[in-house]
Amino acid sequence: MIEFQAVRKEYPPNQIALHHLDLAVKPGEFVFLVGASGAGKSTLMKLLYGAERISKGHLTVAGYNVSSTQGDTLAMFRREIGVVFQDFKLLNRRSVLSNVSFPLEIRGVSRRKMNDAAMNLLNFVGLADRADSLPETLSGGEQQRVAIARALITKPKLILADEPTGNLDPAMSKTVLRLLLEANKTGTTIIMATHNLPLIEELKLRTIVLDRGRVIGDFSNPKGLN
Ligand code: ADP
Repeated sequence: MIEFQAVRKEYPPNQIALHHLDLAVKPGEFVFLVGASGAGKSTLMKLLYGAERISKGHLTVAGYNVSSTQGDTLAMFRREIGVVFQDFKLLNRRSVLSNVSFPLEIRGVSRRKMNDAAMNLLNFVGLADRADSLPETLSGGEQQRVAIARALITKPKLILADEPTGNLDPAMSKTVLRLLLEANKTGTTIIMATHNLPLIEELKLRTIVLDRGRVIGDFSNPKGLN
């Protein structure tokens, strides 16, 4: 699903965010990406969803050679991926339902089909009763659940979640993580960047540790990580 081969990422003039990254993620995996602030987590995620370009090496994501992808192909590649951000990035003037259905709207899906799909997902995240509300009337945790429903509506093969619990309290963080774990059970590959170690340490899922732009650990049973 994902393959980094000797990937280097520099920001001008000379900030090296990732040094020489070799990393592979198989379809269906759930992977946590951890590391101190500045370790390169966000940069790695941005390379994966095409918001930044690699400086050297090769990167393949969901069958696309991201190193050379441009223009329309880049737009198509981005559509294969669902992204969940720390700050939700919902459209504030649109209802919750319309936020969730938006990715289908821009693909030209009929109103009835997209609303049915959005309601199904709002049921999944437990927010069907808030379909007509505006996002700003929801709590942070509720807004993040809307963002997860939106990320799932195109049935992406890959979901990238960049600090999705960063603004949430512990109870809501657990709920958000549970929803991502459930999405993973249906075959969606998930990469979640986080520095919330207490939240993830019981799960014994693959955990990749970044430090100053290098992978310093890749654990398939990371119990006791600190
Ligand atoms: P993390 O998400 O782990 O906190 P980042 O990927 O945001 O780490 O940052 C990794 C390194 O790259 C840091 O040294 C950061 O200062 C630098 N960096 C990130 N974005 C930029 C940018 N747009 N321009 C220059 N340097 C950047």
